[in-house]
Amino acid sequence: MSILVVGSVAFDTLKTPFGERTKILGGAATYFSLSASYFTQVRVVGVVGEDFTAEHEAVLTSRGIDVRGIERASGNTFHWGGEYGENVNEAQTKFTDLNVFENFVPKIPDAYEDSKYLFLANIQPELQLDVRRKMPRVALVGGDTMNLWIDIKRAELLETLQQVDILLINDGEAKLLASDHSLVRSAKKILTMGPRALVIKHGEYGATIFFGDGSHPFRAPALPIAEVHDPTGAGDSFAGGFVGYLAKAGRVDDATIRKAVIYGSVMASFNVEDFSLNRLKGLSPAAIKQRYREFKHLTHFEVDEEF
Ligand code: AMP
Repeated sequence: MSILVVGSVAFDTLKTPFGERTKILGGAATYFSLSASYFTQVRVVGVVGEDFTAEHEAVLTSRGIDVRGIERASGNTFHWGGEYGENVNEAQTKFTDLNVFENFVPKIPDAYEDSKYLFLANIQPELQLDVRRKMPRVALVGGDTMNLWIDIKRAELLETLQQVDILLINDGEAKLLASDHSLVRSAKKILTMGPRALVIKHGEYGATIFFGDGSHPFRAPALPIAEVHDPTGAGDSFAGGFVGYLAKAGRVDDATIRKAVIYGSVMASFNVEDFSLNRLKGLSPAAIKQRYREFKHLTHFEVDEEF
């Protein structure tokens, strides 16, 4: 079943412990789409500028991603500058140039209207809400955000959250959103803001899903990786694997959600092995399957009846 994603399609200028890169392809919607494309059909709504070339577009289209909803505007593409220190879980934003996103009004191509799943990847919350309102019939809405929007667009974000079924954010964002230093309490508070489930990503330590109906939370570790080359997009590739698998399965029962958390972790683990979309571009279903099995070995154990 198709997923429609709205979010940033971007250029990133980055510094990680493994090197520096200038204006490489990035963006929340880009990472999400590439990752989800291994599970189902993805359609993107967004905007790029005149500096976005056919070569950049080919990274998406060569994975079969539908880019008819990516508008070309005059001006430059969204450009984000970020840096990671020894703590690869926490990006420091150096600059955020919204550029063409500043005056963007999302238009949904007619061919996208039958999309069953909607993912509101990170971008201004008003744009997320606008797309959500234009897609009233979707079966499931996932969403993401970041510190910047929690800080400067809180009211707009809270309105958007009313329309989100599953929110995926990281530890720092969860605590900031809930204004609480306890992660578990923050999760409880966020689950009163609209979403019925909340995935909190812990970077290299994994991810936990909490449920509004009081069911047991489920936590998956991240794959232990010796060298994280570039953590950018880990959250978005997690979301792509998570929502992608839910869309492929076409149901949201407990077992499916647990598998979706593992597929999210699998896709994030690939993404951090190289800069930009370099790793996500050329994966094979066999490699994804193999890594999924590694997660089983990493976490599987028997209940000890004899103790
Ligand atoms: P993450 O999964 O959190 O590492 O997301 C990284 C991507 O988010 C980068 O490729 C950036 O282009 C994009 N990004 C950074 N800041 C923003 C922002 N304020 N709004 C939308 N996208 C952003």
